Amino acid sequence: MDIAVVCTGTELLKGYTLNSNLARLGARLTAEGLPLSLELCVGDRAHEIGNAIALALKTCDVLILCGGLGPTKDDITLDVAARFFGCDLETDPELVRKVTDFWDRIHTGHCPKNQLRQARVPAGGHYLSNPVGSASGLAFSSLYGGRMRYVYLLPGPPTEFVPMMENYLVPELLELDAKRRFTLGFLAAAVGESTLAKAVEPVLEGLPVEIAYTAVPEGTKLFLEASDEELLASAVEKARAAVGKDALPAGAADLYAYLVSLLKERGLTFGTAESCTGGLIGKIMTDMPGVSEVYNGTVVAYANSVKERVLSIPREVLERAGAVSEETAALMAQHAAEVLGCSCAVSTTGIAGPDGGTEEKPVGLVYVGCFLNGRTTVLKLNLRGGREAIRQRAAARAVYQLVCRILEAYA
Ligand code: ATP
Ligand code: MG
Repeated sequence: MDIAVVCTGTELLKGYTLNSNLARLGARLTAEGLPLSLELCVGDRAHEIGNAIALALKTCDVLILCGGLGPTKDDITLDVAARFFGCDLETDPELVRKVTDFWDRIHTGHCPKNQLRQARVPAGGHYLSNPVGSASGLAFSSLYGGRMRYVYLLPGPPTEFVPMMENYLVPELLELDAKRRFTLGFLAAAVGESTLAKAVEPVLEGLPVEIAYTAVPEGTKLFLEASDEELLASAVEKARAAVGKDALPAGAADLYAYLVSLLKERGLTFGTAESCTGGLIGKIMTDMPGVSEVYNGTVVAYANSVKERVLSIPREVLERAGAVSEETAALMAQHAAEVLGCSCAVSTTGIAGPDGGTEEKPVGLVYVGCFLNGRTTVLKLNLRGGREAIRQRAAARAVYQLVCRILEAYA
């Protein structure tokens, strides 16, 4: 039973609003073994919505429509869907009460008639309660093209869409008894797409799994999809074994989150000293809620004066070896652990470009340092890409160096 979503909203097509509902829905349904097969995004015009429904129903039995359930003139999704399936709309007295109550809580004066458009339910269908907005979600089923189709309409605002998806849509879809497809993957850290493909494809050959690769600054993510959960788990283990030590555990697709789990398990605290990454590692770490237990902070030591004053890198080292050097990277990591009072630290110093490269120190040259248990190591990297890619890769390689050191030290 394939599932399609049609997102309506001219603002989505114009790029004014990011289609975050699609991302939330896709991730959530994939986690349940009910991945989306198709997504269509259309403007708020009746013929566009109608065409999208017809197209989606060519291959899918479950249709999720997102947006356009409000009371205004451009909110026409329900009318278009009802006309398409030829079902009547009935005003539900309970919904009339809900819409009126919602209006009375926020406004003075009588609830206008157009608000009551939101009290209509397709005949034989039911509504999905909306605790934060006035538009309820709606669900109904209808025969189309000789097959039963299941239709869900959800409001567009993410604050309404997401709870409704969690509370009603996902449980109801699980009840439909559709054939499930499971997805499991891992990150191959610091491994390129083609290297990963070369390693895993021979061992996966002939297995009923679908393979997908996603290149990220941290390496390449491999996702396998299959209908049998046990077979999937064993295929992922085969792929991990083929990759070797750079394969994170099954299910670990985020390097930074994996580092946090390692730090927590081992009772370590972490800090960073960042020159060319300018606080990027600090940003990514602090994007994760609950990280303060293991992450102390970062020193953005961009100028040499900050490296000298805050991180106590001797001027002599900065002048002799240079800011972009193995020696500076090592001292940055070591001193960051001291200044920030943490048990381990990483550092980044390099030439992110586009200017500032020389023959001896070209754009992309980055040193990443790592301090753990009294020992400092440094990696010299020659990274490809523009300024942003170099910074993201440098951050990831610094963090991955620490991951490797922790795994070695606490095997
Ligand atoms: P309302 O009652 O607020 O009009 P609605 O169900 O009619 O709700 P829309 O009018 O389509 O929904 O969109 C309302 C808001 O939700 C807009 O700010 C819109 O940009 C946002 N929105 C709509 N669809 C999406 C989406 N797929 N992802 C993220 N935001 C969305
Ligand atoms: Mg609207």
